[in-house]
Amino acid sequence: MLIAHAPTGLLLAALFIRMKPATVSWQRWYLSGAVFGALPDVDMLWFYWVDKRQFHHHVYVTHWPIVWLLVSMVAGAAWGVWRKPWTAYAVLLGLAGMSHMVLDSVVGDIGWLKPWHDELYAMFVVTNRYSPWQLNFILHWSFALELALLAAAVWQWRRQTHKNK
Ligand SMILES: [Zn+2]
Repeated sequence: MLIAHAPTGLLLAALFIRMKPATVSWQRWYLSGAVFGALPDVDMLWFYWVDKRQFHHHVYVTHWPIVWLLVSMVAGAAWGVWRKPWTAYAVLLGLAGMSHMVLDSVVGDIGWLKPWHDELYAMFVVTNRYSPWQLNFILHWSFALELALLAAAVWQWRRQTHKNK
């Protein structure tokens, strides 16, 4: 996925708005969700600068679903015990990270069984026809899904803005 991660994180923040700490504005809560949704892709920095594009960045630990599942579970347990801003943010982080894994599985490759099995799984395959490589994704039907998520996030932001007027 190219553009849907941050919008999806934002939508999750909207879905879990009841967890938002009272001291935090809805804008900050929404934007945190957006940042958390895109966060696993920080491994791109490692991919370009350290590994010099030798490995698919989806094999890095930041793209292991087990990591985000554990974050979600531990954060959920912590939230159950301590209703604190940090536990709320931790839950949002876990869920947004998990949404990133699911979205990357649509046309990307994700190692759902890592670290036990190295195989990468994708629901649909995007054939490599165009250059630059991003065009293959933009001209694939799955990009409509990305646009829909982006539109939904914009719509939700505007809805929330009107609600708080
Ligand atoms: Zn990713």
